[in-house]
Amino acid sequence: MSPKVALKAKSEPVEPKRLARPLALLAWYDRHRRRLPWRAAPGETADPYRVWLSEIMLQQTTVKAVGPYFEKFVVRWPDVTALGRASLDDVLRMWAGLGYYSRARNLYACAVAVAREHGGVFPDTEDGLRALPGIGPYTAAAIAAIAFDRRTMPVDGNIERVVSRLFAVEEELPQAKPKIQQLAAMLLADSRAGDEKSRAGDSAQALMDLGASICTPKKPACSLCPFTDDCVARTQGTQDTFPRKAPKKSGTLRQGAAFVVTRGDELLVRTRPEKGLLGGMTEVPGSDWRAGQDDKLAKLQAPALKGLSRWQRKLGVVTHVFTHFPLELVVYTARVEAGTRAPDGMRWVPVATLADEALPNVMRKVIAHALDG
Ligand code: SF4
Repeated sequence: MSPKVALKAKSEPVEPKRLARPLALLAWYDRHRRRLPWRAAPGETADPYRVWLSEIMLQQTTVKAVGPYFEKFVVRWPDVTALGRASLDDVLRMWAGLGYYSRARNLYACAVAVAREHGGVFPDTEDGLRALPGIGPYTAAAIAAIAFDRRTMPVDGNIERVVSRLFAVEEELPQAKPKIQQLAAMLLADSRAGDEKSRAGDSAQALMDLGASICTPKKPACSLCPFTDDCVARTQGTQDTFPRKAPKKSGTLRQGAAFVVTRGDELLVRTRPEKGLLGGMTEVPGSDWRAGQDDKLAKLQAPALKGLSRWQRKLGVVTHVFTHFPLELVVYTARVEAGTRAPDGMRWVPVATLADEALPNVMRKVIAHALDG
């Protein structure tokens, strides 16, 4: 998913379409909104904690993947103050499997900041929110609009797609972002007089839902769309070609080795350094990950354990794709005698309790590969 950005709505000259589109969008949302665990029901006030938690979890991840994690978090930590009192280890453990672990560390840092510096109450402006750890322009706009009804439009990948089709934006992403932001802001309903809400949060969520359920990447269901008579790409029959995108550069393949050592029903693990990729997560010992790394060189980085002289190489490799590079790991296994000491900086954990460790997905794959057969 592309990085997310936000822009405050600007005042626009009044035109019939500009008035009609936001209202059509809200009317569609009132009939077809998705029920999501973090979303307030119609007439309810949104809980900023739940909005924030879901927005952080949803970065780079799908609604389906986030659902169970969100439920686990709110049961264990029902508000931001409770989360701010947790330990980082517990938060990482609960997050394990959701990927992009720097988000979990920022999530925790943010909870601590809100609990300690803001009395457990989230700031209600974009600027105030952006000052918190892990909250960028998109997330600040999303929370401000959804939780506090601030008149601003967060633009995520779904919204980029809808808007680029609706207006047939010919520029390629990412250069087209500012233009898409401006056009998306035109889909906010005008502020209303008196105490009525602008429903900015509903407008944003309506576009997100529209992108997720109707204006999908392939074969959008245009006949069900509230913009069906008004969409330039639909009129041209070119829906599938938007948004225009510059070709992606994929990172260079890195290679390395992972060493899975068992002592009875225990496994040798260590904790990655706090900073950097997968910081603070649990892993089995391994070599560094380099482009073009030779197997023999990688194997030289195996941990030294008393009495261990023979490594078994598992057939095949484990592959994983990080944001900036794909990774290929050769897996070596070994067994050691009961009582063998773990090398410095490593520890034994029972295989039965591995699920409680903050294991990133790549390590889950490695362990599954090693222990398979
Ligand atoms: S009419 Fe079709 S292409 Fe246009 S916004 Fe709606 S679903 Fe997307």
